[in-house]
Amino acid sequence: ENEAPGERNENIRVVVRGRPLSTGELEAGYESIVHFDSVQQTVALKDPHSGAVKSFTFDHVFGPDSTQPDIFNEVARPIIDNVLEGYNGTIFAYGQTGSGKTHTMEGGSGKAELRGIIPNSFAHIFGQIAKAEAHQKFLVRVSYFEIYMEQIRDLLSKKTDREKVLVTGLEVKEDKEKGVYVKGLTEQVVHSADDLDKIMALGKKNRVTGATKMNAHSSRSHAIFSVTIERSERISDGRLHICVGKLNLVDLAGSERQSKSEAVDDRLKEAAKINHGLSNLGNVIAALTDGKSTHVPYRNSKLTRILQDSLGGNSKTVMCANLGPANYNHEETMNTLRYATRAKWI
Ligand code: ADP
Ligand code: MG
Repeated sequence: ENEAPGERNENIRVVVRGRPLSTGELEAGYESIVHFDSVQQTVALKDPHSGAVKSFTFDHVFGPDSTQPDIFNEVARPIIDNVLEGYNGTIFAYGQTGSGKTHTMEGGSGKAELRGIIPNSFAHIFGQIAKAEAHQKFLVRVSYFEIYMEQIRDLLSKKTDREKVLVTGLEVKEDKEKGVYVKGLTEQVVHSADDLDKIMALGKKNRVTGATKMNAHSSRSHAIFSVTIERSERISDGRLHICVGKLNLVDLAGSERQSKSEAVDDRLKEAAKINHGLSNLGNVIAALTDGKSTHVPYRNSKLTRILQDSLGGNSKTVMCANLGPANYNHEETMNTLRYATRAKWI
C-alpha cells in the first residue's frame, strides 16, 4: 500500500525494532498488540479498542527475539565498512521513552551478547584497522555531545569548562575546509576499542550530571556519538592519500507527546522544541529518500544542521524506530510507525 513509484534513495534505510514485553508488563497482565514479520518485513498493529489491524512495511523488521548481533550485522556493519572507505554514515534510534533506544545503541553493560551498536561498532572499527595492510595508517577521533532545547553540550569537556559549556552552549559553524562543525567541541584521539568504551562511559556520566543540574532528564535530549576515521596511505608515486569518514550514532530524545493538561509552561516549551527537532529530522529524511525534493530543510534544527554532511549524498543513513509492544502504548506505537513510514516514503 505504501510503495511509491520511481527510484528510492538506497542509502537511506528505515528499520523497526520491537522489544519484548518486560517482566513488569507481563506481571501487570498487559498484552502485546504488535505482530512482527521478519520475512515480509512488516509490522501489524492492533487497535486494542476496535480490534482493527494496520500493517506497515519497512526495509527490515526486528521482532522481540532479535539479538544485538542481528541488529549490528544488518544495520551497523555495512555503514561502518563504508565509513572505513571514507564515506559518512549515521544511525538514529527513534521512539518513545522506554521503547529500547538506549538498549539498541548502547546495550546492557557486562555480557558481551548484550552490547549494543556503539560498543560493537568500536570493536568492529578496531578489528578492521588491525587487519588493514601495513602501509595504511589510521587516526580515530571521537566526540560526544548532546542537544537539549537546541543547545549543544559537550559531554567530553574537562570538568572546569563544564559550567560554562552548560550555560552558554556551543555554536555551529561552517567553513569551506571543515564543512559544518561545532566550534570548541572536544575531539579525543583513541587507539583502541577499550579507549572508546571508557570515553563513552565518561560522557554518559557527564550527561546524567548535566541533566540533573538543569533539572532535566536525559530522555529529553539527543545524544550524538561521532567517530571520525582518517586513513592515510602512500600511493605508488609517493604521494600521501588521505580519506576521512565519519560515523554518527544518535540516541534521539523520546518521541512521546507531552499531555497539555499535565505540563507546566517550561515543560510545554521543552516538548515543543523536541517535537520540532524530531519532525524536522523526519522532513529531512523524507526529502532525501524521495530524491526528487529540491529543498532539504537541514537548517531548521541544530541536529540536522550538524549532521548535514552525513545525511544525503554518498552517506548511508539508518533510522531505527524502536517500539514497545504493550496495549497501553498503542497511541505512541502508532505515532512511531507513522513517523518511520513517513521517513521512508512521501
Ligand atoms: P529508551 O532508551 O528508549 O528509553 P531503554 O533502552 O532504556 O529505552 O529500554 C527500556 C527498558 O527495556 C530497559 O530496561 C531495557 O533494558 C529494556 N529493553 C529494551 N529493549 C530490549 C530488548 N530488545 N530486549 C530486552 N530488553 C530490552
Ligand atoms: Mg534511553
